Amino acid sequence: MRKQIVIVGAGFAGMWAALSAARLADKHQQAIDITVIAPQPELRVRPRFYEKDVQTLVAPLQPLFDVTGVKFLPGTVEQILPGCKQISWKEASGETHQCRYDRLILASGSQINRGSVAGAAEYAFDLDRLESAVRLEQHLKSLSDQAESEARNTVVVCGGGFTGIEMALELPGRLREILGHDAKTRVVVVERGAEPGGRWSKALREVIGEASAELGVEWLVNAEVESVNASGVTLKDGRTLASQTVIWTVGVQANGLTTQIDAPRDRQGRLHVTTELQVVGHPEIYATGDVAYAATDDKGNHALMTCQHAILLGKFAGNNAAASLLDIAPLPYRQEMYVTCLDLGAWGAVYTEGWDQQVKLTREEAKKLKMSIVSELIYPPKAEKAVAFEIADPLAPFV
Ligand SMILES: Cc1cc2nc3c(=O)[nH]c(=O)nc-3n(C[C@H](O)[C@H](O)[C@H](O)COP(=O)(O)OP(=O)(O)OC[C@H]3O[C@@H](n4cnc5c(N)ncnc54)[C@H](O)[C@@H]3O)c2cc1C
Repeated sequence: MRKQIVIVGAGFAGMWAALSAARLADKHQQAIDITVIAPQPELRVRPRFYEKDVQTLVAPLQPLFDVTGVKFLPGTVEQILPGCKQISWKEASGETHQCRYDRLILASGSQINRGSVAGAAEYAFDLDRLESAVRLEQHLKSLSDQAESEARNTVVVCGGGFTGIEMALELPGRLREILGHDAKTRVVVVERGAEPGGRWSKALREVIGEASAELGVEWLVNAEVESVNASGVTLKDGRTLASQTVIWTVGVQANGLTTQIDAPRDRQGRLHVTTELQVVGHPEIYATGDVAYAATDDKGNHALMTCQHAILLGKFAGNNAAASLLDIAPLPYRQEMYVTCLDLGAWGAVYTEGWDQQVKLTREEAKKLKMSIVSELIYPPKAEKAVAFEIADPLAPFV
């Protein structure tokens, strides 16, 4: 019987896992069935969801899968049964199917968790999914139909992590486009930490502070959201912010399928993996991208929930799953280099290198780099087998 690799998810990690597994099988002229199961055969470019025209931020994958011999099944995986090496998945029509695997690659990503904050699920927007980012964009556009008020003109961004910062610093320009240059708009970031970007290097913090001040983005630090309702936000210290637009950006958790595998997980729910990216205690299951808690080096650093890590994790997971079926030595996952490129709206951007975030580029220079990363580097390769396989090699140059 032909060996089966089943990949759950067609995001950055899942797409590259499929291409990398197909590459190795092709190189060794061995037939392995490689199947991707995900709701749509498209890459949704999540890092760009703070931009406008969100609906366009998807890239088709079917032509790429067709030329590389990857089978795609449209649906959602509901159950993982490691004991009998099976999964069950459901089509959009509601029909359910079982599928056997020899190797499973879990690449089902992550999602935002609003925790127990009262009203956050009902009243706050988010940028986590294409659908929710589209909803936010439509809402922002509709503000121009509303009567002028403090609540209409104020956007509250809950959380000052990378996603919160990119969204917040984009907003002054967007609000001016929508509400006109004379509107008294206000963008407020609510942050639990003691200063903007407090968890990053001093140099990066200074850039974030400078860009926020220049664009007029306010930070409420040492502040936590108690509740959200239709009128705005109440903070734990009792202060209120009147706002029709509250955007939730914190509390990202690994996809829930991880809980179906009996293995150690980190506090974000990511599965602990070996250097070959096998889930600890389950050698036939690989975890990759946002569901994997993987060491990037021997210095104690671990992959973050970023595209940068998901892309390379995907390539290693696909390669190693195929290698294990072909009796080839696996490649230990290593990703020593870590960079950050943060969009800072009309101010420009900032590019840092290293885990200690040394600032290398700012303003326009960094913005150009950011644009090339998010509009070229992270997109799928051309639908040509040779091109795709060359880039799918885990050892090909990357960042
Ligand atoms: C607003 C925002 C901004 C970001 N900015 C940046 C940035 O600037 N730089 C950066 O590096 N990273 C950024 N990230 C993080 C980055 O997008 C993620 O780390 C990356 O998408 C992870 O890739 P992944 O393949 O693990 O998961 P995803 O890209 O989320 O893909 C998961 C896939 O699994 C599928 N799936 C989920 N559940 C199931 C199921 N049950 N059955 C079948 N399929 C399933 C999904 O449909 C999808 O195809 C940002 C994320 C967000 C939301």
